[in-house]
Amino acid sequence: MKMERDVLAKPAHAALDVARLRADFPILAERVNGHSLVYLDNAATTQKPQSVIDALAAYYEHDNANVHRGVHTLSQRATDAYEAARANIARFINARTTDEIVYTSGTTDGINLVAQSFARPRLAPNDEILISAMEHHSNIVPWQLVCAQTGARLVVAPVNDAGELMLDAYAAMLGPRTKLVAMTHVSNALGSITPIRRIIALAHAANVPVLVDGAQAIAHLPVDVQGLDCDFYAFSGHKIFGPTGIGILYGKAAHLEAMPPYQGGGDMIRSVTFEKTEYNDIPYKFEAGTPNIAGAIGLGAALDYVRHVGVEAIDAHERELLVYATERVTQIPGLRIIGTAKDKAGILSFTLEGVHAHDVGTILDHEGVAIRAGHHCAMPVMAQFGVAGTARASFALYNTREEVDALVAGIERVRRMFG
Ligand SMILES: *Cc1c(COP(=O)(O)O)cnc(C)c1O
Repeated sequence: MKMERDVLAKPAHAALDVARLRADFPILAERVNGHSLVYLDNAATTQKPQSVIDALAAYYEHDNANVHRGVHTLSQRATDAYEAARANIARFINARTTDEIVYTSGTTDGINLVAQSFARPRLAPNDEILISAMEHHSNIVPWQLVCAQTGARLVVAPVNDAGELMLDAYAAMLGPRTKLVAMTHVSNALGSITPIRRIIALAHAANVPVLVDGAQAIAHLPVDVQGLDCDFYAFSGHKIFGPTGIGILYGKAAHLEAMPPYQGGGDMIRSVTFEKTEYNDIPYKFEAGTPNIAGAIGLGAALDYVRHVGVEAIDAHERELLVYATERVTQIPGLRIIGTAKDKAGILSFTLEGVHAHDVGTILDHEGVAIRAGHHCAMPVMAQFGVAGTARASFALYNTREEVDALVAGIERVRRMFG
């Protein structure tokens, strides 16, 4: 009986009280070019709630010291907060242990770490790294670099005209030469949610480890790394309401144990002589130098915030906004949506006939509406759709239907100006 009452008290998909949540984000009160800010560039970076800003300020005001170094009180406080954030992050993505949580500077840094430390020693000429056609440059270029270093080849699984991974073609590309699959969870350019469970299961059936680029998924979908059984999962703090310059690489402990360090320096060692250096345990082995301590603490506060709001509720809210926005823009003549996958996160990429995406972005900015215009660091997938770039509106938990209306009104204005 008690359980039933709890369920009633907190339904899984309770509608978000967006008006109340918006008050948590001071920047949303900004006025831009004489209009209330309508921030629809969340796929590029998200805004920060007061609790994250406060956590950063409190750290610098009360606890600032270097970590893992000092015997003094502040250093211990800083270390405790920094390590508590790591444990928080491990819980958030359901990692088995905190050892599997490596602090990085962001998704890009995490992918480069895996490319150089995991992939590089395992790659021989003609081995293959398998990615998809809709990857962010961060999940293309590190693999091209390691291919150039080793003679391995980059193989690209195709995406159909809706922006969905072609799963059969992908499965057929998994072979004895495939040494790693590196795949996005959500495409930042198209919004497509990839069938990541299937992608991982198929790769594992062929004995191939999988890195997931979670930069775009982490703020929008529940992520359970044990449930997914991914080998690596990389994301950035700034895309989940945390600070810039901090990110996470989750890696299965067995992989991290077997990998050589990525960078050398302080904190990643146990002992150093000129003859021989012994490395620290994981995850510290991968954390050379003074880390972004405030960033880690801020990220911990951001995850507390998201947990408090509820990822499922956030997901439901954004999907509803996406449906509404899609319905409205579909009625605009000359507007073409780029990325129409069945399963999509809150990203709406589009082109407007006869108007350059940058002009769309600039005119919308005059109305206080912030969107991204360009190739979204995904030039290959832009090329597949035959466009140099798109205008992209991307939603977060604090966005509203009224903001979608402002977007649509702005686009109508662009059309009149160019009509
Ligand atoms: C933003 C993003 C990245 C890169 O993240 P950084 O924070 O710039 O390192 C990689 N992949 C996807 C899908 C992204 O959206």
